This record gives sequence, structure tokens and C-alpha cells, in this order.
Amino acid sequence: MGVCLCLVCKKVNPITEQNCSRCHSRLNTRNYASIQQSWALLVTATILLVLANIYPITLLTNRGVVTNDTIFSGIAHLVHLGLYPIAIIVFTASILVPWLKICGLGLYLCAISFNIPISKRKMMIGFHIIEWIGRWSMLDLFVISLTVALVNMGQLLDAKPAPAATAFALVILLTQLAAKVLDTRLLWDRLETHNDAN
Ligand SMILES: [Zn+2]
Repeated sequence: MGVCLCLVCKKVNPITEQNCSRCHSRLNTRNYASIQQSWALLVTATILLVLANIYPITLLTNRGVVTNDTIFSGIAHLVHLGLYPIAIIVFTASILVPWLKICGLGLYLCAISFNIPISKRKMMIGFHIIEWIGRWSMLDLFVISLTVALVNMGQLLDAKPAPAATAFALVILLTQLAAKVLDTRLLWDRLETHNDAN
């Protein structure tokens, strides 16, 4: 080994150096600030997700009468109409997946920040689950457009995205960023220091 990656310009420097030979910034083997950045993004995402669940996500105008739907009432409507498969997709994409993502990332950050002894195997499984869930993020946005399209087709209604839709889109963006900024080497460090077999 004996090398250290500059976190600013990505130049590989000898580990004996204090400063990067290219950009002269201080060399650190691990980006510890990434934990705080990840926490900040995750906390913001959690607040926005709560708001996205409380505030209306669609505004409907029916012959001049404006009604609105939250994620929950939208799902309730779908169930009432007997559209169970769509109700399940909406529930999975707009409630289950975002909350799982936030809880999973939160657990990870806790494990790193507070040195919680979680077994190597569980950490690895969790890491793959978070990566796998990340791929389904676009499903959330797809569901919003699908819901609006369904409402527009079904009746002579005019559906528009309401404030919660913006909050919801931000949740997707922020959770992705929270996972992306985190220096995963901090996690591997932990795995290497906790050499338990279970
Ligand atoms: Zn540099």
C-alpha cells in the first residue's frame, strides 16, 4: 500500500506526505466529514418525507371544485376503486421503499458513528440491500406520473402535482446523495476491526 488518495484532486500521493503534491491540500486517508454530510442529507430527507406524507401530493379540479390527495388517501382511493395491483405498486414505491432506504442508511450511519457492534455478515447484507434499493428510486417518480395520468384519463378531472410532490422528489435526490457522499471505506475499516464470525 503506502499510498494515499488526495480527496480534493484525486491524485495518488505517498502516505508519508502531509500535503498533496499537486493541489497542496492536506492529505487524509479517510473522509471523516462525509459522515456529517451524509447525516445532514439523511435528516433533511427524513423531514421532507414526513412532509410528503402529510401534505397533498395531487390537486384535483373537478368542475371548479378543488380537492387534494395525500399519498395515503391516494392509495385508499385506488383500493376503493379495486385497483389493487396499482395500489400495491404505489404503496411500495412511495411509502415502503423511501422509508426502508432512510432506515437502512440511518442504521449504517449509526453503526459507523457510534461504533455499534454489528456482525460483518449483517453489514455486508445491509450494504447490498441499500445498493439494490437505490436502483429502484426512479420507480417513485414513475408512480407519481402514473397516478396523475390515471386520474386524468379516468375522469374529466385536472390533476396537478401539489407541494408534497416537490418534497417527495427531493427525498429521492437527497437519499441518493446521502448514500453517495458517504466514504464507504469507513465502513470497511469497521468490518476489518470487528472480525466476528456470525
Ligand atoms: Zn490534491
